[in-house]
Amino acid sequence: MRKKIVAGNWKMNLTLAQGEQLINDVLAAGLHLQEGQEVVFATPFPYLVKAKALIKNNPGFFLASQNSASEKSGAYTGEVSAEMLQSVGVDYVILGHSERREYFQESNAVLAKKIDLALANGLKPLFCCGEPLEVRKAETQNEYVAKQLEESLYHLTAEQLKNVVIAYEPIWAIGTGLTASAAQAQDMHAFIRAQIAAKYGREAALNISILYGGSAKPSNAVELFSCPDVDGGLIGGASLVAADFVAIIKALA
Ligand code: PEP
Repeated sequence: MRKKIVAGNWKMNLTLAQGEQLINDVLAAGLHLQEGQEVVFATPFPYLVKAKALIKNNPGFFLASQNSASEKSGAYTGEVSAEMLQSVGVDYVILGHSERREYFQESNAVLAKKIDLALANGLKPLFCCGEPLEVRKAETQNEYVAKQLEESLYHLTAEQLKNVVIAYEPIWAIGTGLTASAAQAQDMHAFIRAQIAAKYGREAALNISILYGGSAKPSNAVELFSCPDVDGGLIGGASLVAADFVAIIKALA
C-alpha cells in the first residue's frame, strides 16, 4: 500500500535554533504514526546534519533537502550535490518546486537530470508539479501537468519510479491563502494517477504517493487528506508552527 506523507517545506525561514525548537516540539507532541505514515522535514541545507541527529531514533520521521544540483560534482560554486546530501543522511529531495522553476529557471529537462542524480544517490525525489492561475482559468491544467510529468519523469523505469513521490501544487494556491477545493485536488490527483497508470501500469499508479500542496492548514487538511487520491501534503507556511504542523500530521489518520 502507498505511503501517507506530510512534508514540511521550511523554504528560507528560521534560524538553526528556531528550527531545532520546531523539530523538538513536533517530536514531543507524542504523535503515534501508523504503519506507512511518514513525516518529513525539508530544512535549509545548513541545518540538515543537526536535523538528522534530532530525528534519529524516531521511526517514521525523515529528512529532505529543498533542492540538489543538476551536476554530479566539480566546479559549481554554491551548489550541493545529491551525493553530498546522501552522505549526511538525507532521505528525500524536493525537486521542481514552483519557486525553483520560476525564480531559478528550472526547466522540466533540468529537473529530469536532478531526478536521475537523486535516484542514483539513493535519494527519493519529491517531485512537484502544478499549474499557474492563467492555465487553471483556461481549464488546461491537465495538459500542463501531464507535460511536466512526461518531460521530467517518464524516462524513468518502473523500478525507479517506486522511489518517487509526486506533489501536486497548484501555483495559485502556494502561499496565497487560496486552497484548491477538495474536489479540485481530487480531480487532479486522480488524473495524475491515471497518467501514471497509462505509462507504467495499474500497480505503479496504485503504489505512488501523490501529495497536495498549496495553503494546506489544520482547518482544511482533514477534508483534503480524506480524498481517495490525496496521500498527504507538502506544507509550506503551516509547517513553521509546531502546533499547526502537528495538527496537519494528525489529519492523516
Ligand atoms: C509549498 O511551498 O510547497 C507550499 C505548499 O506552501 P504553502 O503551504 O505556504 O502554500
